[in-house]
Amino acid sequence: MLHANSEEKQSIGLMGGTFDPIHLGHLVTAEEVRIKFGLDKVIFVPSGHPPHKEAKDVSAPEHRYLMTVLATITNPYFNVSRVEVDRMQAERTYTIETIRFFHQYYEGKANLFFITGADAILEILSWKDYQELLSICSFIAATRPGYSLSKLEETIGEVCPEALCNIYVVEIPAMAISSTFIRNRVSEGKSIKYLTPEAVTQYILKNGLYSDAKPQYKTPLSSDTKNRILK
Ligand code: ATP
Ligand code: MG
Repeated sequence: MLHANSEEKQSIGLMGGTFDPIHLGHLVTAEEVRIKFGLDKVIFVPSGHPPHKEAKDVSAPEHRYLMTVLATITNPYFNVSRVEVDRMQAERTYTIETIRFFHQYYEGKANLFFITGADAILEILSWKDYQELLSICSFIAATRPGYSLSKLEETIGEVCPEALCNIYVVEIPAMAISSTFIRNRVSEGKSIKYLTPEAVTQYILKNGLYSDAKPQYKTPLSSDTKNRILK
């Protein structure tokens, strides 16, 4: 297993996601991977406009960014990047562009580990420029309840066998939580306590996210974001 400080390079975890909203499944996964791989830090990268989701079905990037900041604030090893959120003009944001950005930013002085759940890694062959992606970054595939990684070797091995040595599978304590589950509970008026950090719960309720309930308070968003929401 690659470890921090091998070749005296930093080891950086990148955790991409829609984070609509971020929840304990994401946080437990990132922390477990950070410890197991001796990562110097984990950078959460909320997506701008995810290629596989319709813009109207996803909360404004600024809301998702702010919830991610709130959720990670108490962990000194966790950071949040605006790189995708700020790529507002793009129709779609692709992981390869983000990885290229960090690759250039660290000028080869860091080993990059892209952290994904089992569902996401199984779709990697459909990602834009996946071959380049697999060559400039390692992948850490976290187990996730409801998804089996037993087909991983077969699926990727057939198309890109050399990539397999760049993909690590990590067992994560089972957290059968998803953002979809949280959004559904909010829209049904059910409690989401203990599924996501309390600050995120309060942010959701204050801003009236995921429900028709009147917001108790609205977080001011930049004019850029407002234009995007109104589009
Ligand atoms: P949605 O239900 O909206 O798809 P999600 O819970 O899957 O949301 P995403 O933002 O889509 O969250 O996921 C970001 C990354 O985190 C993905 O790689 C996903 O596989 C991983 N992930 C999400 N939830 C878990 C979990 N409970 N355990 C392990 N990995 C997870
Ligand atoms: Mg998902």
